[in-house]
Amino acid sequence: MPAKPKPKKVRKLSLFKKDLWKEFALFVKLQRSVDGAWVNCYTCNANLQIGTSNCHAGHWLPQGGYSGMVFVENNVRPQCYVCNVRYSGNTPVFEQKLREEIGDAEVDAMYLDRRQSGKHDRGWYQQKTAHYKHQNELLRQKHGHN
Ligand SMILES: [Zn+2]
Repeated sequence: MPAKPKPKKVRKLSLFKKDLWKEFALFVKLQRSVDGAWVNCYTCNANLQIGTSNCHAGHWLPQGGYSGMVFVENNVRPQCYVCNVRYSGNTPVFEQKLREEIGDAEVDAMYLDRRQSGKHDRGWYQQKTAHYKHQNELLRQKHGHN
């Protein structure tokens, strides 16, 4: 009896999302790092070593409630474990800092847009992942870590 053709495995969407998060979170950290190795927590200023479990990329508008805000650059900043997890993003301070950094108009526009859809297809994830991967390579070159 001939063997049944194996069904073609479709890579899960969650894996594409995971790939993108890895590059995107690294970009958020490298972009704000002076030397490519250390970055400050956005909300308490603690010095964090990139790549360690204390160095997170945290959201102002939480990804749990606003799935469309997960990969919005202005919504994500480097944070320490305590601010991101224990203080659930330390959002009052996060918002204050954002207003100082990017201005009220940008913050208000982002807030109004907070319910945008978080549904994307594989192509969207692949394109974004490639974009941030490239950005990270450029940042690493700038920092002298090729
Ligand atoms: Zn912190």
